[in-house]
Amino acid sequence: MKNKFPSDKVIQPLQLSGSSPFQFRCHKGIACFNKCCSKIRIFLTPYDIVRMKNRLQISSAEFLERYTYPQELENTDLPVVILKMNDDEIKSCPFVSPEGCTLYTDRPVTCRYYPIGFAAMKRAPVREQEDFYFFVREDHCRGFEEDTEWTVDSWRKDQEAELYDRMNRDWMEILLRKKAMGLAQATERSLQLFYMVCYDLDSFRRFVFESAFLENFKVDPEEVEKMREDDVALLLFGLHWIRERLFGKDEPAEQS
Ligand code: SF4
Ligand code: SF4
Repeated sequence: MKNKFPSDKVIQPLQLSGSSPFQFRCHKGIACFNKCCSKIRIFLTPYDIVRMKNRLQISSAEFLERYTYPQELENTDLPVVILKMNDDEIKSCPFVSPEGCTLYTDRPVTCRYYPIGFAAMKRAPVREQEDFYFFVREDHCRGFEEDTEWTVDSWRKDQEAELYDRMNRDWMEILLRKKAMGLAQATERSLQLFYMVCYDLDSFRRFVFESAFLENFKVDPEEVEKMREDDVALLLFGLHWIRERLFGKDEPAEQS
């Protein structure tokens, strides 16, 4: 259950497509059970955080404070957040238990994809995003010795990864554009707004409803009402809004 932006594990160089087959099964009786839930670096996506903080019934600010630390995404000035491991001998995930993941139905998308890794590229001047998959094989993982058959697509469906990718689409687009654009810098204010929208959604809600935001930006009244209570509606609106603030409506030209 690993890293979507991997750096410290054995990556099979083979690029997989949706129809690529593989054999794998993870279950409680397997000898390596829980071995993948320690000493890992998991980048959390905006939708991961919404699901996890709601599952834990805490605010986004409290979630970020207790369970994450920030980092700059390589070759960009964009902040990303990483799940903080426990300070124990094996650097275990704060959500692992002898029974498995205590947040299983709300686990992050990286854990859902594992043992498949997902990568996306945007190569200038190509505007289309190129997605591909690969195996993340680690010596301790015995799941590949099991005989349940999958394709990458059937695995993604089974793990609800498609839903997570859909929810995070604008966030991923921002990350990829920034990487493709090299060192172009956003303003400090835009970066603060990016962090708030993407990771601290409860603060973004206050920002929308307790400032002059709705006087300055025209938002459909029905959408406004939805955003008051519904985290997903607020997140999707916020990601779209911050993407336009950083890049303009159509072209990745403007850095505010
Ligand atoms: S969130 Fe759950 S599945 Fe992911 S590493 Fe932690 S315990 Fe394992
Ligand atoms: S089979 Fe792989 S994914 Fe499942 S518990 Fe073992 S190491 Fe983790």
